[in-house]
Amino acid sequence: SKSLVWFRRDLRSYDHAALYRALSQSEHCYCVFIFDTTILQHLPKRDRRVQFIHQSIVELRAELKKLGSNLIVHYGDPQHLIPKLAAELEVNAVFVNRDYEPTAKTRDHTIELALQSFNCQFIACKDQVIFEDNEVLSLAGKPFSVFTPYKNAWLKKLASEADAEPDFYFKAYPIEKYAHRFAPTLPTQLDAELPTLADMGFEPFEDAEIKLQGGMLAANALLDDFLNRIDQYGTTRDFPSIKGPSYLSVHLRFGTVSIRYLVRLAIEHMRVASNVAGASVWLSELIWRDFYFMILDHHPHVVSKAFKPEYDAITWENGDHAQALFQAWCDGKTGYPLVDAAMLQLNQTGYMHNRLRMVVASFLVKDLGIDWRWGEAYFASHLNDFDLSANNGGWQWAASTGCDAQPYFRIFNPITQSEKFDSEGKFIKRYLPQLAALNHKQIHAPWTLRPLELQAANLKIGIDYPNPIVEHDVARKKTLERYSVVKKVQ
Ligand code: FAD
Repeated sequence: SKSLVWFRRDLRSYDHAALYRALSQSEHCYCVFIFDTTILQHLPKRDRRVQFIHQSIVELRAELKKLGSNLIVHYGDPQHLIPKLAAELEVNAVFVNRDYEPTAKTRDHTIELALQSFNCQFIACKDQVIFEDNEVLSLAGKPFSVFTPYKNAWLKKLASEADAEPDFYFKAYPIEKYAHRFAPTLPTQLDAELPTLADMGFEPFEDAEIKLQGGMLAANALLDDFLNRIDQYGTTRDFPSIKGPSYLSVHLRFGTVSIRYLVRLAIEHMRVASNVAGASVWLSELIWRDFYFMILDHHPHVVSKAFKPEYDAITWENGDHAQALFQAWCDGKTGYPLVDAAMLQLNQTGYMHNRLRMVVASFLVKDLGIDWRWGEAYFASHLNDFDLSANNGGWQWAASTGCDAQPYFRIFNPITQSEKFDSEGKFIKRYLPQLAALNHKQIHAPWTLRPLELQAANLKIGIDYPNPIVEHDVARKKTLERYSVVKKVQ
C-alpha cells in the first residue's frame, strides 16, 4: 500500500506521529508540504512567519532526503491539491497530525470527503499536544473549564500512563526504524525545485532585522541554551529584562520541536534538579498550551465570542476616539512606558514577553475600554508564535471573559506592574531610549515628574514622549461600570 504524509504545523523529521504511522502501515510513503495560498494571501509581503516556515521547509527537505525521501512542495489551495496529489500518486491513505482550529477542521473534513470519493483514507493522529479531546476529563466526565483542576488531572493522567508503560516518558516515534519505506523517487512532474519566497510574492528580511531562525536545529539551539537556566525559570520568568523563558513558542507553533520531547525533558529535570520548581513551573506552561487547545476544540464559539456568554453583553468603546486610542496602543504611544516598550518589542521583533502580553492586554481592555477582539487580531497579525488557541485564551483571560477564574474586578495597574516587573526600567530603556536618563523611580510614570526633573533628564513630555492617553484611576472606575452589566445578566 502507498501513503502520503501531509506536513502542516509539524515541520520536523523526528518524533512525528503521522509520519511514523504512515511508514509503519504502508510500503511506500510520500511526503508533501503546501504553502497554503488561502492563508498566505492575507499576509503582508514581508512576514517573519512565512520566512520561518520557508527556512524550516528547506531544512526538513534536506533532513528527509538524508532518510531517503523527497519532500514534495506545492504552492496553492490544499483542498484542491491534496486530493489531486493523492489521486496522482495512487495512495491508499493521507496521514496528517490533527489540527484543532475550527477552519482547519472544516478544511480537513472537506479533504476527507474528497478522498473518500476514490477510496483513499484520511488518517489524523495526535501529535501537537500531549492529551487531546476527552483524554483529560473531570470526575463528572466533563471537559474542564478551569486550569488548575485540569492541570492536576493532566498530571495524574500522565503518571498513570507512565505506570502502565514505564518507558512512557522516553517514548518517541522512531522514524529511522521504517526509513526504508520512504518512496525513493517521485514522478518527474512532482520532482520540482522548492519555490523561493520571491516565487510566492514575499520579500525576505535581512539577517540583522530578524533574530528568528526556523528549523529543528535552531529549536535545539534555543532548547540547549534554556536547559542551562531551566532551574531558575520559576524566579526569572516574570521579568522581561532577563533572559528567563525558553523562546520556543514559535517552534512549538510550527512543530520544529516536539512537545513530547519537551515534556520528557521537563520531567527528567524535575527528577534530578536541585531546584525542581523551575522545571515544574515550565511544565505548567506547557500544560496551559494543551489546555487552550482543548478549550478551542470543545468550545469553537470562543473564536468570535466570549467563553462566558454573559460577557457578550458588555459595550466596548467605539468610534473615532476609540480608534485613536487603539492606534496609540498599537504604535506604543500610550504614555505608559512599560506598555509602550512592550508594543515596540512586538512591532520590532514579533515576540512579546508573557508578563507584558498580560499587561498590554489588560491595558487595552480595562484602561482603554476596547474590545479584546481588536487586540487579539493585532497580536494575531504581529506575533511570530501566533496560535489561535493560546492567543484567544490569553486575551479572554485578560478581559476576564474567558474560561479561567479571573474576576473582572482584578485590574492590572500599569504603573505598579512596571515597578514590580521592570523595577530598574532596564527593559523600558531598551525600547524607549528617550527615557534613558530617568532613574528607577522616575521611569514608570514620567508625566508625574517636576519640571526640573524633566529638564535634568532632557525630556519634554508631549514632544519626546507622549502624555498618558488615559488616567488609570478614572479608567478603572469606568471599567467596573462597564462590567457591571455582566452581574445584571447573571
Ligand atoms: P516559555 O515561558 O518558555 O513557555 C514554554 C511554552 O509554554 C511556550 O513556548 C508556549 O508554547 C507555552 N505557554 C507558555 N505560556 C502559555 C500560556 N499562557 N498559554 C498557552 N501556552 C503557553 N502563546 C503562544 O504560543 N501563541 C500566542 O499567540 C499567544 N498569545 C498570547 C496572548 C496573550 C494576551 C497572552 C497573555 C499570552 C499569549 N501566549 C501565546 C502565551 C505566552 O505569552 C507565550 O506562549 C510565551 O510568552 C512564549 O514565550 P516562550 O516560548 O519563551 O515561553
